[in-house]
Amino acid sequence: MSACAVPEYDAAIIGAGPVGCVCALVLARKGAKVALLEANPRASERLAGEWLHPPAAKLLRDVGIDVDTLSPDKSGIGFVVLPDDGSDPILLPYPDGSRGLVCDHALLVSSLREAMENEVNVDFISHARVNVVEDERVTFSKDGSERAISAARIVGADGRASIVRRSLGHSMKPMLCSRMLGVTLHDVNLPFEGYGHVVLGGPGPVFIYGLADGSVRVNLDVPFDRWTSRDRTSFLSESYAGLLPGDLEPAFVEALHVKRFHVAVNQLRPRVTYGKPGRVLVGDAAGHYHPMTAVGMTLGFGDALALSESKDFQRFSAERFRAVRVPEFLAMGLYEVLADYRTESVMLRKAVYQGWRANSAYRDRTMRILACEELSMPATIFSFCETVARAMYRETTSAIGRVAWRRIWMTFRALAVRLWWFLLGVRQLRGAIREGREESAKAREHLTRAFSYSIPSRTEWERPARARDVESPDASSALGRAARCLVHLQREDGAWEGEMVWCPMLTAQYALLHHIIGQPFDPGRRRRVLRSFERTRLQDGSWGLHEHSLPHLFVTALVYVAARLLGVAPDDPLIVRARRFIQAEGILGIPSPDYVRSSSGEPVGPI
Ligand SMILES: Cc1cc2nc3c(=O)[nH]c(=O)nc-3n(C[C@H](O)[C@H](O)[C@H](O)COP(=O)(O)OP(=O)(O)OC[C@H]3O[C@@H](n4cnc5c(N)ncnc54)[C@H](O)[C@@H]3O)c2cc1C
Repeated sequence: MSACAVPEYDAAIIGAGPVGCVCALVLARKGAKVALLEANPRASERLAGEWLHPPAAKLLRDVGIDVDTLSPDKSGIGFVVLPDDGSDPILLPYPDGSRGLVCDHALLVSSLREAMENEVNVDFISHARVNVVEDERVTFSKDGSERAISAARIVGADGRASIVRRSLGHSMKPMLCSRMLGVTLHDVNLPFEGYGHVVLGGPGPVFIYGLADGSVRVNLDVPFDRWTSRDRTSFLSESYAGLLPGDLEPAFVEALHVKRFHVAVNQLRPRVTYGKPGRVLVGDAAGHYHPMTAVGMTLGFGDALALSESKDFQRFSAERFRAVRVPEFLAMGLYEVLADYRTESVMLRKAVYQGWRANSAYRDRTMRILACEELSMPATIFSFCETVARAMYRETTSAIGRVAWRRIWMTFRALAVRLWWFLLGVRQLRGAIREGREESAKAREHLTRAFSYSIPSRTEWERPARARDVESPDASSALGRAARCLVHLQREDGAWEGEMVWCPMLTAQYALLHHIIGQPFDPGRRRRVLRSFERTRLQDGSWGLHEHSLPHLFVTALVYVAARLLGVAPDDPLIVRARRFIQAEGILGIPSPDYVRSSSGEPVGPI
């Protein structure tokens, strides 16, 4: 291709997601000649942002998008929180009657792309995958051939895996938070029309809202360590269905069973760089957060607007860092407070509930921060300290005795330690911004310790799913729900009736006892016991405490030994995978005194 054949633009925007489209519209309205390149026009049909805070809704109206036809009549009024302790719902409307917007993600993006068709200053180049980004030049493949354009400014609006970000040499390592599972339900009703319902009490929060076509979207936040491939449907329906408000439960359970859902991974990347004057990052390419606080598009649209209004890159990036810091920390902090079950988080959560219920100024401040309208860091820190003080006061006034005081002291210490890591992380981030560096590993590590639930450390999310000890869990709300469920199941005569599930550990111990006391099973019983082992085996060949249990080393080892004593060979299909499981857990051998030798006198171990 000759150099003179390369079309020239003022700006080349990579990515026609919501932020890329808004960016193209606002730059074009300022008179810039814009090329907008999109690799996969169907990328917007995934599970992604649908709730827009009032500033984002206003911006869409300002650029001429007819948002009112995209969203339900009454929508985006605010949030209603359904607390995990079963107490009354808490309404959090946006202050001063302002309204946000709820819109199906694909519909929003297609409306933005349609709006561009009338923009003479925008060339929308679809099916154009950008492969190389250099100064003032973008090379992309389209229809099987390689093409290029030149632009004074290249804007990376290409999402979390941004090629523009990579071209600037910045780290692309994801910081994974959790998974989001999105289910769409039809013919159901939400109790608070127009509100986003935040339901707490499950393994992760649930975010629910109505869409324009009358359907209801349910987004479940599922922690990584609870995302197991085995019995996922039962786990999801047992852990979340009972919490859902209105008449959502049956439709939700059915959708899970027919696997009618979408899944996305929630990632975090605080904004630390906006690139450089000729190559700017906006939207998720610049930074992204846990979606529960729904700030992604509002901040991304803010990036786009500020870029169109600012002639000077330094001023643009300084202004944006000022604007994003508070919503960014709220996105992390609020998720931590709502989702975590460590004692200090539960204490803060209760104090936050109390503040929201009792104090309209506190409610309004939360909503202004959430809407990305309150940008003052001192005011936010004041709000945080107020919450901590309220939490401490609540505990001290209800505490009696040394144990309670000790609990308060431990909680205070845990909060102080988290605050310490948070401040260190913030310092590292500020240093990185000042020096124009990419985020340092240290900042990441410190923030991980401050937000220990929101940002699991890398090693944690890489570990296979299994039960983990949670430090100082507060089981009071789970206990309350369990008690209510038991009372509900109790028969009129005071008894309970239900199916008895025999744990394989008991069968194994029964077989072991018979062996030790020298009363071997007759062939019929031996066969039935082995069949019971076969039936209670989990999918991976190990044994657990019950059919829904995770693999259990203790139970598997007992069944393995019992089966060996009943004459099953180590390479028999019944136990061969259990043997591998035991070895993978680091067990090298099983002691074989005389009383645990097989009927032929062989030792059971080494494994
Ligand atoms: C489950 C979930 C729920 C969310 N909920 C909310 C919410 O309620 N409210 C909210 O505000 N935010 C929410 N978010 C975040 C929100 O979806 C994002 O902030 C938003 O989509 C970012 O828009 P973007 O245009 O920056 O990037 P994207 O939406 O990721 O768009 C990037 C575009 O760039 C294109 N692209 C990528 N690479 C190339 C390339 N090499 N060449 C050409 N094109 C390329 C992609 O195909 C894509 O179309 C949620 C996110 C998730 C995952």
